Amino acid sequence: MVVLIAAGLDPSGGAGMVADVATVARRGLRAAAVVTAQTVQDSARCHEAIAGDPELVAGQIARVVVDLPIAAVKIGMLGDEKVARAVAAGLSPLAARGVPIVLDPVLRATAGSALLDGDPRSALEALLAIASLVTPNREEAARLSGIPVDDEKGQIAAAQQLREQGVHAVLVKGGHFAGDSVADLFLDGGDPLWLRSPRIPGEAPHGTGCALSTEIACALAAGNDLRESVALAHARVVERIAAAVSVGKGRKFL
Ligand code: PLP
Repeated sequence: MVVLIAAGLDPSGGAGMVADVATVARRGLRAAAVVTAQTVQDSARCHEAIAGDPELVAGQIARVVVDLPIAAVKIGMLGDEKVARAVAAGLSPLAARGVPIVLDPVLRATAGSALLDGDPRSALEALLAIASLVTPNREEAARLSGIPVDDEKGQIAAAQQLREQGVHAVLVKGGHFAGDSVADLFLDGGDPLWLRSPRIPGEAPHGTGCALSTEIACALAAGNDLRESVALAHARVVERIAAAVSVGKGRKFL
């Protein structure tokens, strides 16, 4: 069973493609990998980000989509609108077959560079339409929905607005709020699902958003439905954050 990752390269390995492929391997699945962007990055900071070549990305996706039994897709950093649209076009045959697509709408690194140029609503328009789930953090949810996200009410309002914009399901992550607990909100057509966990003290590890969206894609590939996959992946990432280790001189890795 194959999980297709379309993501940027973080050479430190803490986030992006290297971390995503490691997550897929951790779950006993195979990864196919299309690098959409490059970064100059270490465990402390992202210094530079450059989008990939949309034609190369389109060619790579076209090959793996025809060749491999792809059971789920995770999309991370895209760099710019041309690459984002190339990924959306390349994935449309999978979307038409009902293969689940998880979109982590990465806009900027926690410390440093923008990871998507331009207006995210326009850049991600085609991907938002085909994604089974979109996993914005607070800032990403606000920029994609146009609604301020300052508290749990804001999380609900932004998720509802994104659904009204045609997004199938949304997970608005709450890790960037202050407080002793963290609440992520999952919203599809049914009852809202709040995933709560105590805040783990210390600086947030690098690459937690990447890990969460890839864990969800892996759980979907293993045959769980979307709601179960989100809950399972959330529990796995909470465990992984508690067990994070110092590898480089900056933030911990999962
Ligand atoms: N680098 C790449 C390639 C990423 O995909 C991401 C996040 O998705 C990051 C860096 C940012 O990670 P963090 O916010 O943990 O710094």
